[in-house]
Amino acid sequence: MTLHIETPLVRSDILSDLVNKDIRLKLDALQPSGSFKIRGIGYACEHHAGRGAKAFLSSSGGNAGMAVAYAGKKLGIPVKVVVPETTTPRSIGLLEEDNAEVIIHGTSWLEANILAQSIMTDETAFIHPFDDELLWLGHSSMIDEIHTTEFKPDLIILSVGGGGLLAGVIQGLMKNNWEDIPIMTVETAGAASLNRSLKNGKIVELKKITSLATSLGAKKVSEGAFQLAKDHKITSTLVSDLDTLTACERFLSDHKILVEPACGAALSPVYNKMQDLRNFNKILVIVCGGSTTSIDDIRNGITALTN
Ligand SMILES: *Cc1c(COP(=O)(O)O)cnc(C)c1O
Repeated sequence: MTLHIETPLVRSDILSDLVNKDIRLKLDALQPSGSFKIRGIGYACEHHAGRGAKAFLSSSGGNAGMAVAYAGKKLGIPVKVVVPETTTPRSIGLLEEDNAEVIIHGTSWLEANILAQSIMTDETAFIHPFDDELLWLGHSSMIDEIHTTEFKPDLIILSVGGGGLLAGVIQGLMKNNWEDIPIMTVETAGAASLNRSLKNGKIVELKKITSLATSLGAKKVSEGAFQLAKDHKITSTLVSDLDTLTACERFLSDHKILVEPACGAALSPVYNKMQDLRNFNKILVIVCGGSTTSIDDIRNGITALTN
């Protein structure tokens, strides 16, 4: 048994016709916690439960925290999530619905995380949102599932925050002897930590995040993800916040699935018919999901950016 589900891989006729290519969607928006994160976090939580952890701790008010809350609920292990005051009531509500104890502390993630570290005990497992090899192994199951189908993509498009998803996908490709498949990484311009790092040949820490795609808002990618990315064929792409919001709105209309801007980023190259797609025909988009926004947030964001 795993805490994640095997998700559908579907051909999108609408997107395929739009760019005149074969576009397939890996629908991880349908995971029980609302995003792909339960793959890796579920795997890590099961691992820690197996070695006797009595509590799980997270400092993410986003999809990582939600995945930890869901995993703890399913495994019968109590979960504490420490979040900064900036966390929306909506996110706190979702965490509490899954029985997590939410501790609100500090004005930034940094302060929340310091408190989280200070309440750690020997029996607590701290679950990092992206920088953990257990997570990457869990995320790699996504590629295992695609490998069992007849479809071999010639390009994979995914979004990047701290690089956990990217690291998991690259490891999944290596495991399945698919390391020849190139990846298009997508970030918003205000959260371009991987893009800047690849350009500089070393990890660059951003001074601040200026993107509405909050789930992509890691100031720097993990060392492990950066090393894997450096050795893989990567096209690093930047899109605007407006692109990602528009992609979310169009995707809802086209496929009846609401995803958050972090995921709209991965859909943007197709909706924007980007030139970088011209040499590829069988394109897999990882629809990573996300529960941190509502359609009203997305529409209000579009209005604010176009006025
Ligand atoms: C976490 C997350 C990302 C980014 O994943 P990283 O592993 O941090 O790179 C993208 N989209 C959604 C919806 C997420 O929750």
